[in-house]
Amino acid sequence: MGLFGSFLSRFSKNKAGLEDLEEFRKALIESDIGAEFAEEIIKLVERERVEELAGRITDQLKGALVKSDRQIRFAPNRLTTILIVGVNGTGKTTSVAKLARKYQDQGLRVMMAAADTFRAAAVDQLLTWGNRIGVPVVTGKTNSDPAAVAFDAADKAKRENFDLLLIDTAGRLHTKNNLMDELGKVRRVVEKVTPIDEVLLVLDGTTGQNGIVQGRAFQEAVTLSGLIVTKLDGSTKGGIALATERALQIPIKFVGTGEGIEDFSAFEADSYIAGLLG
Ligand code: GDP
Repeated sequence: MGLFGSFLSRFSKNKAGLEDLEEFRKALIESDIGAEFAEEIIKLVERERVEELAGRITDQLKGALVKSDRQIRFAPNRLTTILIVGVNGTGKTTSVAKLARKYQDQGLRVMMAAADTFRAAAVDQLLTWGNRIGVPVVTGKTNSDPAAVAFDAADKAKRENFDLLLIDTAGRLHTKNNLMDELGKVRRVVEKVTPIDEVLLVLDGTTGQNGIVQGRAFQEAVTLSGLIVTKLDGSTKGGIALATERALQIPIKFVGTGEGIEDFSAFEADSYIAGLLG
Protein backbone atom coordinates (compact mmCIF):
# COMPACT_ATOMS: atom_id res chain seq x y z
CA MET A 1 0.00 0.00 0.00
CA GLY A 2 1.24 3.50 0.72
CA LEU A 3 -0.38 4.38 -2.56
CA PHE A 4 -0.56 8.10 -1.89
CA GLY A 5 2.59 8.44 0.18
CA SER A 6 5.24 9.11 -2.44
CA PHE A 7 2.96 11.40 -4.42
CA LEU A 8 1.88 13.39 -1.41
CA SER A 9 5.43 14.06 -0.36
CA ARG A 10 6.25 15.08 -3.92
CA PHE A 11 3.22 17.38 -4.12
CA SER A 12 4.06 18.95 -0.79
CA LYS A 13 7.34 20.18 -2.18
CA ASN A 14 5.88 21.55 -5.43
CA LYS A 15 2.47 22.23 -6.82
CA ALA A 16 1.63 19.11 -8.83
CA GLY A 17 2.56 19.42 -12.51
CA LEU A 18 0.61 17.83 -15.35
CA GLU A 19 2.99 14.92 -15.60
CA ASP A 20 2.78 14.25 -11.87
CA LEU A 21 -1.00 14.26 -12.08
CA GLU A 22 -1.02 11.76 -14.93
CA GLU A 23 1.31 9.49 -13.02
CA PHE A 24 -0.84 9.82 -9.92
CA ARG A 25 -4.01 9.08 -11.88
CA LYS A 26 -2.39 5.94 -13.29
CA ALA A 27 -1.34 4.75 -9.83
CA LEU A 28 -4.85 5.36 -8.51
CA ILE A 29 -6.47 3.40 -11.31
CA GLU A 30 -3.99 0.55 -10.88
CA SER A 31 -4.87 0.37 -7.22
CA ASP A 32 -8.44 -0.48 -8.29
CA ILE A 33 -9.88 2.47 -6.46
CA GLY A 34 -12.26 3.00 -9.40
CA ALA A 35 -12.19 5.61 -12.16
CA GLU A 36 -14.79 7.92 -10.68
CA PHE A 37 -13.19 8.00 -7.26
CA ALA A 38 -9.74 8.51 -8.81
CA GLU A 39 -11.07 11.63 -10.57
CA GLU A 40 -12.42 13.01 -7.31
CA ILE A 41 -9.01 12.61 -5.70
CA ILE A 42 -7.27 14.18 -8.70
CA LYS A 43 -9.61 17.18 -8.45
CA LEU A 44 -8.61 17.63 -4.83
CA VAL A 45 -4.95 17.60 -5.81
CA GLU A 46 -5.60 20.24 -8.46
CA ARG A 47 -7.71 22.43 -6.21
CA GLU A 48 -6.39 22.19 -2.69
CA ARG A 49 -3.42 23.97 -1.17
CA VAL A 50 -0.55 21.53 -0.79
CA GLU A 51 -0.42 21.88 2.97
CA GLU A 52 -4.07 20.87 3.26
CA LEU A 53 -3.97 18.08 0.75
CA ALA A 54 -3.25 15.10 3.02
CA GLY A 55 -6.08 16.09 5.35
CA ARG A 56 -8.55 16.60 2.53
CA ILE A 57 -7.69 13.29 0.88
CA THR A 58 -8.05 11.54 4.24
CA ASP A 59 -11.52 13.10 4.65
CA GLN A 60 -12.49 12.04 1.15
CA LEU A 61 -11.36 8.46 1.76
CA LYS A 62 -13.10 8.32 5.13
CA GLY A 63 -16.27 9.66 3.56
CA ALA A 64 -16.26 6.71 1.17
CA LEU A 65 -16.38 4.16 3.97
CA VAL A 66 -19.71 3.12 5.43
CA LYS A 67 -20.48 4.09 9.00
CA SER A 68 -22.09 0.83 10.09
CA ASP A 69 -20.61 -1.49 12.66
CA ARG A 70 -17.77 -3.75 11.58
CA GLN A 71 -18.06 -6.11 14.54
CA ILE A 72 -19.77 -9.46 14.22
CA ARG A 73 -23.17 -9.26 15.87
CA PHE A 74 -22.97 -12.04 18.42
CA ALA A 75 -26.23 -13.16 19.98
CA PRO A 76 -25.83 -12.79 23.76
CA ASN A 77 -27.57 -15.94 24.97
CA ARG A 78 -27.84 -18.33 22.08
CA LEU A 79 -26.05 -19.81 19.10
CA THR A 80 -24.71 -17.20 16.65
CA THR A 81 -24.93 -18.30 13.02
CA ILE A 82 -22.96 -16.88 10.11
CA LEU A 83 -23.62 -17.77 6.49
CA ILE A 84 -20.58 -17.40 4.24
CA VAL A 85 -21.36 -16.83 0.56
CA GLY A 86 -19.35 -16.01 -2.56
CA VAL A 87 -18.17 -17.23 -5.93
CA ASN A 88 -15.93 -20.32 -6.04
CA GLY A 89 -12.25 -19.59 -5.70
CA THR A 90 -12.66 -16.32 -3.84
CA GLY A 91 -11.44 -17.88 -0.57
CA LYS A 92 -14.72 -18.83 1.08
CA THR A 93 -13.70 -22.12 2.63
CA THR A 94 -10.36 -20.74 3.78
CA SER A 95 -12.13 -17.75 5.34
CA VAL A 96 -14.57 -20.04 7.17
CA ALA A 97 -11.61 -21.87 8.71
CA LYS A 98 -9.87 -18.59 9.57
CA LEU A 99 -13.00 -17.30 11.30
CA ALA A 100 -13.40 -20.59 13.18
CA ARG A 101 -9.85 -20.39 14.42
CA LYS A 102 -10.18 -16.73 15.42
CA TYR A 103 -13.27 -17.27 17.57
CA GLN A 104 -12.09 -20.59 18.94
CA ASP A 105 -9.00 -18.74 20.15
CA GLN A 106 -11.34 -16.35 21.95
CA GLY A 107 -12.81 -19.28 23.86
CA LEU A 108 -15.98 -19.86 21.84
CA ARG A 109 -17.25 -23.34 20.91
CA VAL A 110 -17.31 -23.29 17.14
CA MET A 111 -18.84 -25.63 14.55
CA MET A 112 -18.51 -25.51 10.76
CA ALA A 113 -20.95 -26.81 8.16
CA ALA A 114 -19.87 -27.90 4.66
CA ALA A 115 -22.99 -26.96 2.72
CA ASP A 116 -21.27 -27.00 -0.68
CA THR A 117 -22.36 -30.59 -1.27
CA PHE A 118 -21.71 -30.39 -5.02
CA ARG A 119 -17.95 -30.20 -4.69
CA ALA A 120 -16.35 -33.07 -2.84
CA ALA A 121 -13.10 -31.09 -2.81
CA ALA A 122 -14.73 -28.25 -0.89
CA VAL A 123 -16.05 -30.65 1.74
CA ASP A 124 -12.64 -32.35 2.03
CA GLN A 125 -10.94 -29.00 2.35
CA LEU A 126 -13.19 -27.96 5.22
CA LEU A 127 -12.74 -31.34 6.91
CA THR A 128 -8.97 -30.98 6.64
CA TRP A 129 -9.11 -27.52 8.19
CA GLY A 130 -11.46 -28.81 10.89
CA ASN A 131 -9.03 -31.60 11.81
CA ARG A 132 -6.12 -29.24 11.82
CA ILE A 133 -7.70 -26.68 14.12
CA GLY A 134 -9.88 -29.06 16.12
CA VAL A 135 -13.26 -27.71 15.07
CA PRO A 136 -16.11 -30.15 14.26
CA VAL A 137 -17.47 -30.12 10.71
CA VAL A 138 -20.97 -31.22 9.71
CA THR A 139 -21.11 -32.72 6.21
CA GLY A 140 -23.71 -34.41 4.01
CA LYS A 141 -23.64 -36.86 1.12
CA THR A 142 -22.25 -35.62 -2.20
CA ASN A 143 -24.96 -33.88 -4.22
CA SER A 144 -27.39 -33.94 -1.31
CA ASP A 145 -29.48 -30.86 -0.57
CA PRO A 146 -27.20 -28.12 0.85
CA ALA A 147 -30.11 -26.79 2.90
CA ALA A 148 -30.43 -30.18 4.61
CA VAL A 149 -26.77 -30.09 5.65
CA ALA A 150 -27.17 -26.56 6.95
CA PHE A 151 -30.31 -27.59 8.82
CA ASP A 152 -28.59 -30.60 10.43
CA ALA A 153 -25.67 -28.43 11.48
CA ALA A 154 -27.92 -25.74 12.96
CA ASP A 155 -29.93 -28.34 14.83
CA LYS A 156 -26.82 -30.04 16.22
CA ALA A 157 -25.04 -26.80 17.12
CA LYS A 158 -28.13 -25.55 18.94
CA ARG A 159 -28.81 -28.80 20.81
CA GLU A 160 -25.17 -29.12 21.84
CA ASN A 161 -24.92 -25.51 22.99
CA PHE A 162 -22.29 -24.33 20.56
CA ASP A 163 -21.58 -20.59 20.52
CA LEU A 164 -20.90 -20.12 16.82
CA LEU A 165 -21.91 -21.92 13.62
CA LEU A 166 -20.17 -21.03 10.35
CA ILE A 167 -21.89 -22.30 7.20
CA ASP A 168 -19.79 -22.63 4.04
CA THR A 169 -21.97 -22.53 0.90
CA ALA A 170 -21.64 -23.30 -2.81
CA GLY A 171 -20.48 -20.67 -5.31
CA ARG A 172 -21.14 -21.98 -8.80
CA LEU A 173 -21.50 -18.91 -10.97
CA HIS A 174 -22.68 -20.52 -14.21
CA THR A 175 -25.98 -21.41 -12.57
CA LYS A 176 -26.41 -18.08 -10.90
CA ASN A 177 -30.18 -18.22 -10.47
CA ASN A 178 -30.13 -21.71 -9.02
CA LEU A 179 -27.34 -20.67 -6.73
CA MET A 180 -29.24 -17.66 -5.46
CA ASP A 181 -32.42 -19.74 -4.99
CA GLU A 182 -30.40 -22.34 -3.14
CA LEU A 183 -28.86 -19.72 -0.84
CA GLY A 184 -32.31 -18.37 -0.12
CA LYS A 185 -33.46 -21.88 0.76
CA VAL A 186 -30.46 -22.48 3.03
CA ARG A 187 -31.33 -19.30 4.82
CA ARG A 188 -35.02 -20.12 5.25
CA VAL A 189 -34.38 -23.67 6.42
CA VAL A 190 -31.73 -22.68 8.98
CA GLU A 191 -34.01 -19.98 10.31
CA LYS A 192 -36.57 -22.64 11.20
CA VAL A 193 -34.05 -23.72 13.83
CA THR A 194 -32.11 -20.61 14.75
CA PRO A 195 -31.74 -17.03 13.45
CA ILE A 196 -28.98 -16.23 10.98
CA ASP A 197 -27.07 -13.35 12.48
CA GLU A 198 -24.72 -12.45 9.66
CA VAL A 199 -24.38 -13.13 5.94
CA LEU A 200 -20.82 -12.39 4.85
CA LEU A 201 -19.80 -12.20 1.19
CA VAL A 202 -16.25 -13.25 0.34
CA LEU A 203 -14.66 -11.22 -2.48
CA ASP A 204 -11.28 -11.84 -4.08
CA GLY A 205 -9.41 -8.53 -3.81
CA THR A 206 -7.38 -9.26 -6.94
CA THR A 207 -10.39 -9.41 -9.25
CA GLY A 208 -10.87 -5.67 -9.17
CA GLN A 209 -14.12 -4.13 -10.27
CA ASN A 210 -15.54 -7.56 -11.08
CA GLY A 211 -15.90 -8.11 -7.35
CA ILE A 212 -18.32 -5.20 -7.24
CA VAL A 213 -20.47 -6.84 -9.91
CA GLN A 214 -20.53 -10.06 -7.88
CA GLY A 215 -21.35 -8.10 -4.77
CA ARG A 216 -24.40 -6.53 -6.36
CA ALA A 217 -25.75 -9.92 -7.49
CA PHE A 218 -25.39 -11.45 -4.03
CA GLN A 219 -26.78 -8.39 -2.31
CA GLU A 220 -29.90 -8.65 -4.43
CA ALA A 221 -30.41 -12.34 -3.69
CA VAL A 222 -29.43 -12.61 -0.03
CA THR A 223 -29.20 -9.51 2.08
CA LEU A 224 -25.56 -9.16 3.12
CA SER A 225 -24.37 -7.85 6.45
CA GLY A 226 -20.68 -7.61 5.66
CA LEU A 227 -17.77 -8.38 3.34
CA ILE A 228 -14.57 -10.35 3.63
CA VAL A 229 -12.00 -9.17 1.08
CA THR A 230 -9.32 -11.81 0.49
CA LYS A 231 -5.91 -11.99 -1.19
CA LEU A 232 -4.86 -8.51 -0.17
CA ASP A 233 -1.39 -9.88 0.66
CA GLY A 234 1.39 -8.00 -1.01
CA SER A 235 -1.13 -6.42 -3.30
CA THR A 236 -0.68 -2.97 -4.75
CA LYS A 237 -4.41 -3.06 -5.35
CA GLY A 238 -5.28 -1.85 -1.87
CA GLY A 239 -7.78 0.59 -3.32
CA ILE A 240 -10.22 -2.20 -4.13
CA ALA A 241 -11.39 -2.48 -0.54
CA LEU A 242 -12.43 1.15 -0.55
CA ALA A 243 -14.02 1.00 -3.99
CA THR A 244 -16.02 -2.08 -3.09
CA GLU A 245 -17.31 -0.72 0.16
CA ARG A 246 -18.25 2.58 -1.44
CA ALA A 247 -20.04 0.88 -4.34
CA LEU A 248 -21.92 -1.70 -2.28
CA GLN A 249 -22.42 0.31 0.92
CA ILE A 250 -21.72 -2.83 2.94
CA PRO A 251 -18.99 -2.77 5.61
CA ILE A 252 -15.85 -4.82 5.11
CA LYS A 253 -15.52 -6.80 8.32
CA PHE A 254 -12.38 -8.84 7.63
CA VAL A 255 -9.49 -9.04 5.22
CA GLY A 256 -7.52 -12.10 4.15
CA THR A 257 -3.81 -11.55 3.63
CA GLY A 258 -2.50 -15.02 2.78
CA GLU A 259 -3.24 -18.73 2.61
CA GLY A 260 -2.31 -19.45 6.22
CA ILE A 261 -4.87 -19.71 9.00
CA GLU A 262 -3.45 -16.66 10.76
CA ASP A 263 -3.43 -14.48 7.63
CA PHE A 264 -6.67 -12.79 8.55
CA SER A 265 -7.65 -9.68 10.41
CA ALA A 266 -10.53 -7.43 11.29
CA PHE A 267 -10.77 -4.52 8.87
CA GLU A 268 -9.67 -1.33 10.60
CA ALA A 269 -10.75 1.68 8.58
CA ASP A 270 -8.35 4.18 10.15
CA SER A 271 -5.25 2.06 9.75
CA TYR A 272 -6.31 1.07 6.25
CA ILE A 273 -6.53 4.74 5.25
CA ALA A 274 -3.28 5.54 7.03
CA GLY A 275 -1.75 2.67 5.03
CA LEU A 276 -3.01 4.07 1.74
CA LEU A 277 -1.63 7.49 2.60
CA GLY A 278 1.73 5.94 3.49
P1 GDP B 1 -13.56 -21.06 -2.24
O1 GDP B 1 -13.69 -21.84 -3.52
O2 GDP B 1 -14.21 -19.74 -2.33
O3 GDP B 1 -13.98 -21.85 -1.04
O4 GDP B 1 -12.01 -20.71 -2.09
P2 GDP B 1 -10.85 -21.43 -1.24
O5 GDP B 1 -11.01 -21.14 0.20
O6 GDP B 1 -10.75 -22.84 -1.65
O7 GDP B 1 -9.59 -20.61 -1.74
C1 GDP B 1 -9.17 -20.61 -3.10
C2 GDP B 1 -7.65 -20.40 -3.13
O8 GDP B 1 -7.35 -19.11 -2.64
C3 GDP B 1 -6.89 -21.37 -2.23
O9 GDP B 1 -5.71 -21.73 -2.89
C4 GDP B 1 -6.61 -20.55 -0.97
O10 GDP B 1 -5.45 -21.00 -0.31
C5 GDP B 1 -6.41 -19.18 -1.57
N1 GDP B 1 -6.71 -18.09 -0.62
C6 GDP B 1 -7.78 -17.92 0.17
N2 GDP B 1 -7.68 -16.77 0.89
C7 GDP B 1 -6.51 -16.18 0.53
C8 GDP B 1 -5.83 -14.95 0.91
O11 GDP B 1 -6.28 -14.13 1.71
N3 GDP B 1 -4.62 -14.74 0.29
C9 GDP B 1 -4.09 -15.60 -0.62
N4 GDP B 1 -2.93 -15.30 -1.16
N5 GDP B 1 -4.70 -16.73 -0.98
C10 GDP B 1 -5.89 -17.03 -0.43
